[in-house]
Amino acid sequence: MTNREAYDNMWDELEQYRAIGTVEEIKSVKKYIDLKRRCGTPTNTIDLCAEYIAIGTVEECREAREKQKPQKPFKGADFMVVRGDDGSHIWESDYICHECGMEITREYIYCPYCGTYIDWSKEGDKSHEEDDH
Ligand SMILES: [Zn+2]
Repeated sequence: MTNREAYDNMWDELEQYRAIGTVEEIKSVKKYIDLKRRCGTPTNTIDLCAEYIAIGTVEECREAREKQKPQKPFKGADFMVVRGDDGSHIWESDYICHECGMEITREYIYCPYCGTYIDWSKEGDKSHEEDDH
């Protein structure tokens, strides 16, 4: 191959690349090309995208993950619960969800209003809290 032929070949190749698009244009569509490459076919790509959309956006997934981090509830008011006809009673407390501020009770593992995981450990164990001082 002469220098002239090599030059002509390079020029032809450059023209082909220009027909495809500029570097900026190629970069802007590269994520779609990579996605199609990973998924195999356009139909698979669309199916997988639909599955991801059904799962939720990245922000929604992050928000859900945050709610899985245990949050200690705030202690609310104490109230008396009468247990029987003999007047025996116990004291119980209201609790407030750390995340949404709604009133919750110990029967919940997750806040029924916002879904936050409630950490009941140590809660109501006053002696433990005072030991921390
Ligand atoms: Zn809540």
